[in-house]
Amino acid sequence: MADLRIIIVGASGRMGRMLVRAVSEAQGVTLAGATERAGSAFVGRDAGELAGSDGRGVLLVDDIQACATADLVIDFTAPAATLNHAAFVAEHKMAMVIGTTGFDTEQSAQLHKTLANTPVVMAANYSVGVNLALNLIEKAAQVLGDDYDAEIFEAHHKHKVDAPSGTALAMGKSLATGRGVALDDVAVLSREGITGARKPGSIGFSVVRGGNIVGEHQAMFIADEERIEINHIAADRMVFARGAVRAAGWVSAQNKGWYDMQHVLGLNEV
Ligand code: NAD
Repeated sequence: MADLRIIIVGASGRMGRMLVRAVSEAQGVTLAGATERAGSAFVGRDAGELAGSDGRGVLLVDDIQACATADLVIDFTAPAATLNHAAFVAEHKMAMVIGTTGFDTEQSAQLHKTLANTPVVMAANYSVGVNLALNLIEKAAQVLGDDYDAEIFEAHHKHKVDAPSGTALAMGKSLATGRGVALDDVAVLSREGITGARKPGSIGFSVVRGGNIVGEHQAMFIADEERIEINHIAADRMVFARGAVRAAGWVSAQNKGWYDMQHVLGLNEV
């Protein structure tokens, strides 16, 4: 079978470089194109060289329209850029793996509309460990109910621009699903001043930003007598890049539809 041809957008970004490396290390996939935003100093540079990977010969271009069509786009950039790339994917009937976080409601609706006929994997976190944790959190919430106060904590590097992280929100969603409620109805995203006592059934979020923390997440179920914690610590971004390339291989064999890492890993049925 021919290799899956992949375009990496934002290829000089923190994740972009990891993705280029992960593609070069994986079997059955080839880097077919690489992009950066217009005006970036990295346009014209070799993607493999920037990533420190073995593959050479794919130069960064400043517009996805300049890429030869391929089978799939992997996108870890920014919401507005992802919307633009999605239009290219839909137009050329490709598949898409999306890691970008921080979409607002309107952008999210637009993305779903644009990719209505496309096989898509979108996950707030592509690590296998986090996806297992999401599954465990839902089960824990089911068993513990709201007798246990639920809090979610996350920490990331100082460059991260959105908060709480997409993964923290995904954990909140799993927790809410386990309890049979909607996250929007119970989430407390920040606290300041005279907040009053904790509202029963609420799911609280707290956030730390600093240094080069790759990603730490914790779900806590707190009762007077005991506390259960489900913890995940990512030590290297390659964990997300390898997961995204695994998702690419998986989604390329799927029909149009919106999938997440739980589907890719077989934790959720398609
Ligand atoms: P980054 O800023 O290092 O990289 C983003 C890159 O995208 C930059 O190089 C930027 O120039 C480029 N870009 C912006 N607009 C573009 C355009 N129109 N065309 C091409 N390239 C463009 O950020 P990062 O740390 O790599 O994170 C990127 C995104 O991925 C963020 O939303 C982050 O939250 C998310 N992320 C997701 C996961 C996950 O597992 N889902 C893991 C890590 C990061």
